[in-house]
Amino acid sequence: MRKDILRYKESHPLATLQEIGTHFKTSRQYIYKYLKDNDIKQGPTKRRKDSKPIRYCPVCGNPTPKDKNSYNPVVCAKCRFINYNIKVNCAFCHVPFWKKKKDIRFLYKIDYKYMYCSRQCYYKGRADGISSKRKVSDYIF
Ligand SMILES: [Zn+2]
Ligand SMILES: [Zn+2]
Repeated sequence: MRKDILRYKESHPLATLQEIGTHFKTSRQYIYKYLKDNDIKQGPTKRRKDSKPIRYCPVCGNPTPKDKNSYNPVVCAKCRFINYNIKVNCAFCHVPFWKKKKDIRFLYKIDYKYMYCSRQCYYKGRADGISSKRKVSDYIF
């Protein structure tokens, strides 16, 4: 097996320690030590495409892994929903529901502060005189 590592390293000079380790089902550290003991020049420990700084999710602080398209998201998948949505209470039935933050910013900008969980509540709220007369029904659902 040890000879195989040397042979593998010779035929794959650009293989990282991690890749060799995976190939031989052993740890990176073991390969490193083995190659060092045998005075073999180390290849790059990391490929260039991985050398970008790791991004950390601003919500949970965990590193955000690249997705299939190797796009590095700002917020991790787990926190994406919570980062872009906010819990608000329906102005009519007071049931909390989730709403996109950018929609809420827009509503505040046009001075519209009433959120409704559903179209029914929106109409009931308007009938009760809760909401203003503004026609923003297209934006609140
Ligand atoms: Zn997160
Ligand atoms: Zn409601």
